[in-house]
Amino acid sequence: MPVEEKKNLHRVDDYPYEEITSPLLAWYRENKRDLPWRKDGDPYRVWVSEIMLQQTRVEGAKEYYKRFLEKFPTVYDLAAADEESLLKVWEGLGYYSRVRNMQKAARQVRDEHAGVFPDAPEKLRALAGIGDYTAGAIASIAYGRRAPAVDGNVFRVLSRLTENPTDISLPAYKKYLEEKLRAVYPEEGKACSDFTQALMELGALVCKPTSPDCETCPLRALCRAKERGRQEDYPVLPKKKDKREEKLFVFVLVTKDGVALRRREKGVLKGMYEFPTAPQDRPKEEILRGWGVDDYRIVKVEKAVHIFTHIRWEMDCVLVRAESTPFEQFTIPQIREKISLPTAFVKAKEMLEKEYGV
Ligand code: SF4
Repeated sequence: MPVEEKKNLHRVDDYPYEEITSPLLAWYRENKRDLPWRKDGDPYRVWVSEIMLQQTRVEGAKEYYKRFLEKFPTVYDLAAADEESLLKVWEGLGYYSRVRNMQKAARQVRDEHAGVFPDAPEKLRALAGIGDYTAGAIASIAYGRRAPAVDGNVFRVLSRLTENPTDISLPAYKKYLEEKLRAVYPEEGKACSDFTQALMELGALVCKPTSPDCETCPLRALCRAKERGRQEDYPVLPKKKDKREEKLFVFVLVTKDGVALRRREKGVLKGMYEFPTAPQDRPKEEILRGWGVDDYRIVKVEKAVHIFTHIRWEMDCVLVRAESTPFEQFTIPQIREKISLPTAFVKAKEMLEKEYGV
């Protein structure tokens, strides 16, 4: 039976938080994965990896991380990057506002901190796109400060250990856990860095969302949820909101001069390139006519779905061969090498690939 959702903070002050530190550190040192961003604790690299890991799994992030650092090896390179190469290197990761914020933060670090990330969480939080979690991660992992970083993994581990029924979306719960953790952090330095990573690593490898591997867990003797067989009742998650549905046509308009793309002017993916889209409130032929595309042939139509955080796009991707279009046109090599097309358009891009070898 799921536990009842608690809208108010439930404090579990009788739990012996201080007892988790040493077994967790010992376990981490034996079991940690060899990940590229764990090599040197450089704050720039820690930051890049943490932002990427907010939206993609470790395995997927490795390749992006490598490419990103090849392209922008220092905070100065990132600060000076042009927008298209920035978006191109992020292509496929989604949430493009994150990489735009990264560039803003890189400029702040260059201009206000002489190119060196600050080590205090409050100064890190003043940088674009850096909240409590990322500030804690950089301060502790890169600088060995006693600064907790509570992410989904950490919420899960601590909610299970203490059987805390508070909904994890309650901001006061995060503050409460930060306070409890800060009190049990080891000495400043390498141990602090390891402790932050150990909590995350335990959540990723052992205390998994479903079927946690309790028998190998270094904290099993301290786990109240395990003791009562209620591991999967925790953490308590907020109720999912229904997604808004939008039905769209996505036009892959090809002429002898290239392929039509335009920048999205509003809404989701604002500022990104797209194949021209339109709501399915009129027939596609009428939309094409409205754009002044008269002499054309519809080659094929394929369906696709893309799910954003709050919206679900149901798309009819329409491959059209036309004499002319009113949009900016790009050659196929330009699309391949320079233009970043959001993942929502992966099906449309595939249609183009199949037909014309993008
Ligand atoms: S004993 Fe099981 S539920 Fe408890 S912290 Fe370890 S893996 Fe998670």
